[in-house]
Amino acid sequence: MHCQDCPRYDPEAQSCRDEKLNPLRWDQAVDIANIFGLRAICMFNDHRERLVDTRRVVPLSRQARKTPPSS
Ligand code: SF4
Repeated sequence: MHCQDCPRYDPEAQSCRDEKLNPLRWDQAVDIANIFGLRAICMFNDHRERLVDTRRVVPLSRQARKTPPSS
């Protein structure tokens, strides 16, 4: 979502009322998440779900199931 189309956008201050960041590119989103944390990124950002997926910790028990049995 573009900030200008969002009800949380303050046109006078030209910024987000929630002080969130809305990066356009994937590399920007990764940098922001690494520096400020995932919570700094807007919930409506196009890259947020992918970032959450990349940071999801897979339990060891599931990792073991993904590994094919050795022959
Ligand atoms: S960062 Fe997100 S919540 Fe804030 S104005 Fe932009 S789209 Fe809206």
